[in-house]
Amino acid sequence: MARVYNFSAGPSMLPEKALQRAASEMLEYGSSGQSVMEMSHRSKEYEAIINECEALFRELLEIPDNYKVLFLQGGASTQFAMVPMNLMKTGKADFVVTGQWAKKAWQEAAKFGDAKAVASSADKTFSYIPELTPDMFRPDADYVHVCYNNTIYGTHYNTFPNVGDRPLVADMSSCIMSEKVDVSKFAMIYAGAQKNIGPAGLTVVIIRDDLIGNAKEGTPTMLDYKIHAENGSMYNTPPTYSIYMCKLVLEWIKNDMGGVEAVNKINQHKAKLFYDYLDSSAMFKGTVTPKDRSLMNIPFVTGNEELDKLFVKESKEAGFVNLKGHRSVGGMRASIYNAMPVEGVEKLIEFMKEFEKKNG
Ligand code: PMP
Repeated sequence: MARVYNFSAGPSMLPEKALQRAASEMLEYGSSGQSVMEMSHRSKEYEAIINECEALFRELLEIPDNYKVLFLQGGASTQFAMVPMNLMKTGKADFVVTGQWAKKAWQEAAKFGDAKAVASSADKTFSYIPELTPDMFRPDADYVHVCYNNTIYGTHYNTFPNVGDRPLVADMSSCIMSEKVDVSKFAMIYAGAQKNIGPAGLTVVIIRDDLIGNAKEGTPTMLDYKIHAENGSMYNTPPTYSIYMCKLVLEWIKNDMGGVEAVNKINQHKAKLFYDYLDSSAMFKGTVTPKDRSLMNIPFVTGNEELDKLFVKESKEAGFVNLKGHRSVGGMRASIYNAMPVEGVEKLIEFMKEFEKKNG
């Protein structure tokens, strides 16, 4: 078996250790006589799994006690609606538009109230993060929404978004658990699991208690945070297997990698290797303003579409898959989440150097 280096933006690579553990427990979890997939979500065995997953979240991100951790479904895209339905108490929210996902969050919120795009980086194809100062935001905005890491364009808030005292909501789909963040500075964080913490099907919401219980009248039961919080994410059947896989990934972060800060150091090392090469290459160029570069998603181009195509084709044949850029931007993108080993990045750079020699 030859596993490829998968540079997909998501779903993406999972730690091999977590996959092996899942494989070894596929037919029988513990001495339960059944797979986790077959287990009642109300069983003692499963209760222990979901509780452990939440405990690991709290420990790894040092989540304060006045925040709930919810395990939901519907992807980060469902949060684009759920956030305004639950948090737009007076009907106003401000948005920073730094890419397609940020824009979708803003446009969806506009269905529920006065959603204002306060700043945007659309003028330069979302290649930077706009400067933010508290006076840009409306004093009576119920919250400010940011996309902390922009998966498609490869930008990240490397300085904390300064929104003053407004509640800050962050989409961390493509950077959760890749860096330590001070959760207490956020009103809410949400993330689809399928990049850094598990398979698709699970969406994690970390929300401060005082923001729960304000859903607009007519909010469907399943879209009310209060219902999920009161029922320990068990109002209905949660995505049981995805939560179990997430637990295995978090165990890997804690036990094998030494925690989120240690993982972040490795992420910084991997990204530096890659950016240093891009900055020194005569053929490949990064597309993002250096100070706003993401550690997770690295878009790059040759400036020649034919050459880009050839690179994507030949890299795939060499075992480096999913390097094609997002369909909206073209070029290439290497997504190097937590589970991408350092040698995956080193080998890709070697391949790029060879490609450059051959075609330069
Ligand atoms: N936000 C960001 C930052 C994303 O990268 C994505 C998916 N790539 C989404 C939201 C949408 O997530 P989902 O597919 O889970 O709805």
